[in-house]
Amino acid sequence: MYIQPFFADADTPYDDSDFVIFGVPFDATSSFRPGSRFAPDAMRQASYTLETYNRHFDADMDEIKVCDEGNLDVGSSVSQMIKEVKEKVGIYLSDGKVPIMMGGEHSTTLGAVMACMEYFDDLCFLVLDAHLDLRDSFEDVKYSHASVSHHILNVLSPQRYASIGVRSGTREEYSRVAKDGLTSISAETIQKEGVDGVIHEVMTKFDDMGCKNIYLSVDADVIDPAFAPAVSTPEPFGIFPTDVLHIIRSFSEKLVALDVVEVCPGYDHGETAILFSKLIREFIFAKAHCEVI
Ligand code: MN
Ligand code: MN
Repeated sequence: MYIQPFFADADTPYDDSDFVIFGVPFDATSSFRPGSRFAPDAMRQASYTLETYNRHFDADMDEIKVCDEGNLDVGSSVSQMIKEVKEKVGIYLSDGKVPIMMGGEHSTTLGAVMACMEYFDDLCFLVLDAHLDLRDSFEDVKYSHASVSHHILNVLSPQRYASIGVRSGTREEYSRVAKDGLTSISAETIQKEGVDGVIHEVMTKFDDMGCKNIYLSVDADVIDPAFAPAVSTPEPFGIFPTDVLHIIRSFSEKLVALDVVEVCPGYDHGETAILFSKLIREFIFAKAHCEVI
């Protein structure tokens, strides 16, 4: 199959762009289904099915300056990959861009968050994930995809952290949530109470911290496997794609970077890649819209 060289309509030259999409094709620590290294290209390919006009915002991709920098050339060393992602995201931020990272597995997030923390003093971290990812290591790998929140919380105050959509973790991980007073909202809470109250709760918490800049990490498995089957570690009883859409739109004004990780092509007919390329598009429209206003 011919792979499209860049995300649809992301053809603005780097210097003129406001958003920079890049891929990190890294899945060396994947424990269940490797293959997320193919996700950036699968999402690029999927993006060509999407209409360029967005009715909700009455906006067209032609009016937004987006560049696709292609994939980072990462090897199989997780610590080297984290360093390279951190460096790259640091450059994008100092050039005034909004970085959009397509993983790869969840370990790719750490470098991007560290770069954002260096750039923004008041950064808060919001992660959508079925899993707590609070293990200090997994299968003898320190910087495993299953440990990403643990490592972020080693450098970020627990008050500046929130996870949404969680429904899987060890007893020890849940104890850590209680001990550190972490905001971690279950998928079940969203199913019972709706997503709006959850958005309000997290927003109020971050506002109370004086936070104006939020990093959003979307682990694809937060969405129910019925809608997003092609992920590395599927977990039943997930949230709806439209819940994620509402979260993105509600927080967009303060979002300074986005990643989409753990999509694992090959376990469906392409629906998962289409869904997440659509959510990336929706992030761009939402963010561009609030900047115009
Ligand atoms: Mn994760
Ligand atoms: Mn997960």
